Amino acid sequence: FDDRDGFIWMDGALRPWRDANVHVLTHAMHYASAVFEGVRCYGGKVFKLSEHSQRLIDSAKILGFDLPWTRDEIDAAINETVAANNFTDCYIRPIAWRGSEQMGVAAQKTKAHLAVSAWEWGAYFGDEALAKGLRLMIAPWRRPAPYTIPVRSKAAGLYMICTLSKHAAADAGYDDALMFDWRGQVAEATGANVFFVQNGKLHTPTPDCFLDGITRRTVMDLARRRGVEVIERAIWPEELAGFEQAFLTGSAAEVTPLAEIGPWTFEVGALTRQLQADYRDFVRGVLPAK
Ligand code: PMP
Repeated sequence: FDDRDGFIWMDGALRPWRDANVHVLTHAMHYASAVFEGVRCYGGKVFKLSEHSQRLIDSAKILGFDLPWTRDEIDAAINETVAANNFTDCYIRPIAWRGSEQMGVAAQKTKAHLAVSAWEWGAYFGDEALAKGLRLMIAPWRRPAPYTIPVRSKAAGLYMICTLSKHAAADAGYDDALMFDWRGQVAEATGANVFFVQNGKLHTPTPDCFLDGITRRTVMDLARRRGVEVIERAIWPEELAGFEQAFLTGSAAEVTPLAEIGPWTFEVGALTRQLQADYRDFVRGVLPAK
């Protein structure tokens, strides 16, 4: 992915894509002191731009480092990156990390760095998945308890179990994995939140040990606009058999229907289709903000 044309914004200036490098003694590489965002731009407008910039700042703060850029400056860096690459529709990856100024677990003397990359990225799970629904395996790893790791930060270190789970799913012929949490409750997929439909109502796990996604909150609002009741609660695996529809939400995943989770199957039903369409319209400004 490093050998292509384009520009990456790095610590205040645009650099050619191939020159956006860091030193091998970067603290983040050894100790996972990195936080990132996944953002999408639709028709030249970055969706929920400031929410993503703010979450990046908050994620870094949770890991104990302050970014020397304001939310407005990060917003501007994101817009600048999209414009420099001549994109109207793209995925954007801002990342902040502790640099190579100090080696060892302690990191007080490291500097905070920021980079913003962008590339064209269609449907995260592919167009076929958007239509037919994904097949998910139950992940071999569980979301950790909030007292074991800072679960509110979109921190790189929280993704090692996502990569392992995603690989396990691929090896077994599935598209992705559904992760339970340390209590055994349904949590989320490896890079997206999960929703279920039962008797016309939406059910989604309470985000007390995983990301309360920006797409998740957007879809909850869109559902309520349609008069659909949204219930956030603890969801146990035993309940999966009773849900009629299921889907994932995420900035990359958007609204992706699920056809299967382990032994349980779901229909790609009317409410899922409706919310998928509403989200598609909302991000492009076709469906106005309230
Ligand atoms: N959970 C995980 C683990 C994720 O990586 C993402 C994607 N950022 C989400 C949930 C969804 O968050 P959002 O809707 O803010 O993109």
